[in-house]
Amino acid sequence: MADKLHTSLHEVIGHASGQINQGIGQPKETLKNYASTLEEARADLVGLYYLPSEKLVEMKISPNAKGIGKAAFDGYIRNGLLTQLTRLNLGDDVEESHMRNRQLVAAWAFEKGAKDNVIEKVVKDSKTYFVVRDYNKLRVLFGELLREIQRIKSEGDFEAGKALVETYGVKVDQEIHKEVLARNSKFKSAPYSGFVNPVLVAEKDAEGNIIDVKVTQPGNFTEQMLDYAKRYTTLPDVN
Ligand SMILES: [Zn+2]
Repeated sequence: MADKLHTSLHEVIGHASGQINQGIGQPKETLKNYASTLEEARADLVGLYYLPSEKLVEMKISPNAKGIGKAAFDGYIRNGLLTQLTRLNLGDDVEESHMRNRQLVAAWAFEKGAKDNVIEKVVKDSKTYFVVRDYNKLRVLFGELLREIQRIKSEGDFEAGKALVETYGVKVDQEIHKEVLARNSKFKSAPYSGFVNPVLVAEKDAEGNIIDVKVTQPGNFTEQMLDYAKRYTTLPDVN
């Protein structure tokens, strides 16, 4: 539930929020190859910041604030610092934008919260764990990073954006990576999963008014991707 809510907030109030200052170009021009990672980080941070909010419960979007917030924070830190490494071969850098963003956010929060023990690195039976010790302080840190990344986007501050991504989002701790691959080796589930989306088909009356929308299911993933390629390749990339 926390994960689904986080994704929803990421898409709806994350990507849809924030403004670029007057006279500043689009992120693709100002932040160049770092634009996508920083935009994903901004959207994730909006979601993380608002997840523990009572307002979501009041609006009947979330069943509770505390439990959902804790589950989301635990899962996010664990994934950003450990789990997502199952997707990489040993020695590889993190390349994909969403993955760079998740490591950036988690590693930045771990480092900035170290003096207050916000996230504690625990090694038990030669296994590494990242345990969130202070959810309120972690939320404040997420807010601070969100403010900085929004500033970078709004002002088109390439150097600051580059420094954040390169410092926290790209290089992998080789010892941790080895450990994660070894711990994961007994699990056979695929490291990536894809989705076959429903296709909405409008039904019209004789005058062409839409009278109903039917939810249909395409045959398989390949068919859907080929269909998307045929119909949407003229669009700029938006995700
Ligand atoms: Zn996104």
